[in-house]
Amino acid sequence: MNYRFIEERKRLVEMLKREGIIRSKKVERALLNVPRELFVPENYRDLAYADTPLPIGKGQTISAPHMVALMTELLNLDEGMKVLEIGTGSGYQAAVIAEIVAPKNSKKPGKVITIERIPELAEFARRNLERAGYIDRVKVVVGDGTLGYPKEAPYDRIIVTAAAPDIPKPLLEQLKPGGRMVIPVGNKYLQYLYIVDKTPSGRIIINKDIPCVFVPLIGKYGWKVKEYLY
Ligand code: SAM
Repeated sequence: MNYRFIEERKRLVEMLKREGIIRSKKVERALLNVPRELFVPENYRDLAYADTPLPIGKGQTISAPHMVALMTELLNLDEGMKVLEIGTGSGYQAAVIAEIVAPKNSKKPGKVITIERIPELAEFARRNLERAGYIDRVKVVVGDGTLGYPKEAPYDRIIVTAAAPDIPKPLLEQLKPGGRMVIPVGNKYLQYLYIVDKTPSGRIIINKDIPCVFVPLIGKYGWKVKEYLY
């Protein structure tokens, strides 16, 4: 047990509470329980509790803690839910979600399915989730997440952690009536977090939240690699 990291984690959570990003006990507990230092590359470990995105290789990043906390709050999660994440990256956001939907010793555990398009990162995330004790609650899949994951659909919640030009149609279809999706939508340089609710009768309601900047969502219903690089 590394007490320095535990102290830094507590300080970060206190700051996010003071700033109004963490608003619920559930999200507070989740951020206090997940060791972010196990989800960043070895050489960035000292910065694990700085409120900043960090490189994880292959040109990708682990999102800043405030963004993870905010998106988790917006998802409005409950124990027992089935959640799909697009953009596994380091696996950290998936572990935070698992802490809420499938806490240890839960009598009605939910689950997290997370999709990553870069196989090396999916492997990195699997290793991190294993070490941190979440691999039994999080399934990591390699593939194009813009297609969703029909095999386990429908989902109570969907979270996309890469920037989309628009809301991918398959994700809307795989969201349960009464379900919610949180996704950054915009152009290459700036996006807005969209909160997408599907009413029990199937109507889609979209609310725009804060501006944000994510790495691109690349895939059939996302950006094409060429559109992004040139
Ligand atoms: N949630 C991650 C975490 O906790 O570390 C951070 C995600 S990072 C900002 C975005 C990730 O989305 C990258 O790893 C990228 O490779 C992945 N990605 C981009 N397009 C994708 C797609 N179509 N399907 C699955 N993953 C995708």
